[in-house]
Amino acid sequence: MENNLHIFIDRLKDNKEEKILDTLASEDLDIKNEKELIFKSPIELEAKAYKASEELIINVNLKFRVSIPCKICNKLIEKDINVKNLYIIESLENIKIFYDLKYEIKNLCFLQIPSYVECLDSCPSRQNIKNYFKEPKKENFPFSDLKE
Ligand SMILES: [Zn+2]
Repeated sequence: MENNLHIFIDRLKDNKEEKILDTLASEDLDIKNEKELIFKSPIELEAKAYKASEELIINVNLKFRVSIPCKICNKLIEKDINVKNLYIIESLENIKIFYDLKYEIKNLCFLQIPSYVECLDSCPSRQNIKNYFKEPKKENFPFSDLKE
């Protein structure tokens, strides 16, 4: 089966773009869903690859949806992730036959997922613990029951 994510160098014409359109299931990228990070949608990939002098240049756009826990109330929330116009540049001499976009896409996905999210971008439960934020030294640390 033809793999869309393998970019064959000798098929790229100089100064001509090759378009890569794909919809990837998270399993295609060897991503396993975890309790705290669930991929809710396939990853939509739109990329352009081209050769410029001694380099392979790939312009990447990604779109997907994940589910992650709110840092305040721990409720799972869904977040749309949009990655626009990122560039991957690889020297042609490092590429044997084809460049495998798979690992780079996987890395990009994880890099773009925010490590801190609140439901509705401002958790309603934040009100309840506002006082604790003002007094961080208090012994009953508000996050202690969020830990497993
Ligand atoms: Zn919340």
